[in-house]
Amino acid sequence: MTIAHIKVPNGKQYQLETGIFINNEFLATESQLAVEDPGTGTEICAVHLGDERHVEQAVKSARKCFTEVWRSKSGRERSDLLLKISQLMLEHSDQLADLEALESGKPKATNAIFDVLHSADVFRYYSALAMTAEDGKTVETERSKFTYTVTEPYGVCAAIMAWNFPCSTFAWKVAPCLAAGNAIVVKPSENTPLCALYMCELFLKAGAPAGLLNVVCGLGAKVGSAIASHPGIDKVTFTGSTVVGKTIQKLAAENLKACTLECGGKSPLVVYDDADLEQAVKWAAFGIFFNKGEICTASSRIYVQAGIYDEFLDRLKKHVEENFVQGPQFAEGVNVGPQVSKVQQDKILDYVKIGVAEGAKLVCGGNKVPDLAGYFLQPTILADCSQSMRVVQEEIFGPVVTVSKFNTDEEAIELSNDSSYGLAAYLFTQDINRSQKYIREVQSGQVFVNYTFAADYRMPFGGYKMSGIGRELGEAGLAAFSQTKAVHINLSSKL
Ligand code: NAD
Repeated sequence: MTIAHIKVPNGKQYQLETGIFINNEFLATESQLAVEDPGTGTEICAVHLGDERHVEQAVKSARKCFTEVWRSKSGRERSDLLLKISQLMLEHSDQLADLEALESGKPKATNAIFDVLHSADVFRYYSALAMTAEDGKTVETERSKFTYTVTEPYGVCAAIMAWNFPCSTFAWKVAPCLAAGNAIVVKPSENTPLCALYMCELFLKAGAPAGLLNVVCGLGAKVGSAIASHPGIDKVTFTGSTVVGKTIQKLAAENLKACTLECGGKSPLVVYDDADLEQAVKWAAFGIFFNKGEICTASSRIYVQAGIYDEFLDRLKKHVEENFVQGPQFAEGVNVGPQVSKVQQDKILDYVKIGVAEGAKLVCGGNKVPDLAGYFLQPTILADCSQSMRVVQEEIFGPVVTVSKFNTDEEAIELSNDSSYGLAAYLFTQDINRSQKYIREVQSGQVFVNYTFAADYRMPFGGYKMSGIGRELGEAGLAAFSQTKAVHINLSSKL
């Protein structure tokens, strides 16, 4: 039996398949893992856990689908399926958002719905790109030769995923992978497997061929590493911490598997003295506290020019205290939910203590939220931070922001780049020359001027330095699942 009965605090009830999904069937396994509602700390349901044998089965099923069915589909046919998935996601957006809110701690009305609609757009976008995914190019070489390229899928790909955006991480990986013509094996995070399982139900509804999508829930050290080292998988795409990303790259080297790694971040936000201060304060707060700081591109290091430092800090504190309403995911008016787990809550609280011990000034927050049973943490500002502090250098992945002072434009760039990460950078200025210099010199995969945001599905997304390898989204996200074949034809046949 693989069906769970899920009760959502908003009164709704759902049945959800919780088995591993291979060859279009949900299968029961010997072991199960409880999935928790971080808003209450209680169990939502248990999902079936796979192991190395299930990875083997899933890879076989994906290979069969790739060779016998999916490889011969035209771009138009692949496009049709992806569009159908996008439409089904919209039709079932309320249920998907309920599940995402429940398992990840996102407030349903603000964050979870946003993530689901964005994910449906990602499928729609790659449905369009699927039509031309195998296009090549003729290349002028010699008169006696006809030379051109063709674009081809890898074959079987796999995705290993983090927990902070369960729906969109699935969409960012699965949609371009299938659009390019591959089949896929997915391993969701142990914390948030429910959205991926629900997506399997939508794939069945859409009439997807057996083996195109396989989902094997399981532990990272078992299922994740079996995927990363499997010789039958041609490409792996990973979203998670830098430390696990490095392990995956080492395991993948066994069969020279291509890797896309979307890893951690510690993104700087620079406020120059000519910025629109009111807007800079609002965006800075949004950049770190949206999704309770559980966002890889969070603007977690703020640098403010000396002349406006005190005023910025006062305004930021006031804004945070007046605008963020914490509470359970389904409560009205709430815009900040609980951290995803007790492990994360404890880790973040430890970092606050480390920061204060290192000499940072605790401006606000720093504690659990009184009277709330789940894993809630107050939005926290640590000021007067110096560059060598661990809270400035290490990814906290929670609602904690450091604020530091700088004097010159050169210093702002130097401080921004003084990090092992390079995922996103934000700057606030009215001066186009200042912004151009910063954009050129900052070592970061994304730069945002006068706003903070995570991504747009039409633009490439990815990290410099230890934030990752490769790009997702946009045309680059499709290219990441394709390889190029060069064809040389001798028209004269003479040596
Ligand atoms: P994590 O690295 O602990 O886990 C990510 C995934 O890897 C999980 O599915 C886990 O089971 C699996 N895993 C763990 N050990 C493994 C192993 N030895 N072999 C194979 N797989 C293994 O990360 P997390 O705690 O789930 O997520 C938080 C991290 O994700 C943060 O560092 C955050 O910055 C990062 N993240 C990055 C992006 C991005 O696009 N750059 C987006 C979201 C999250």
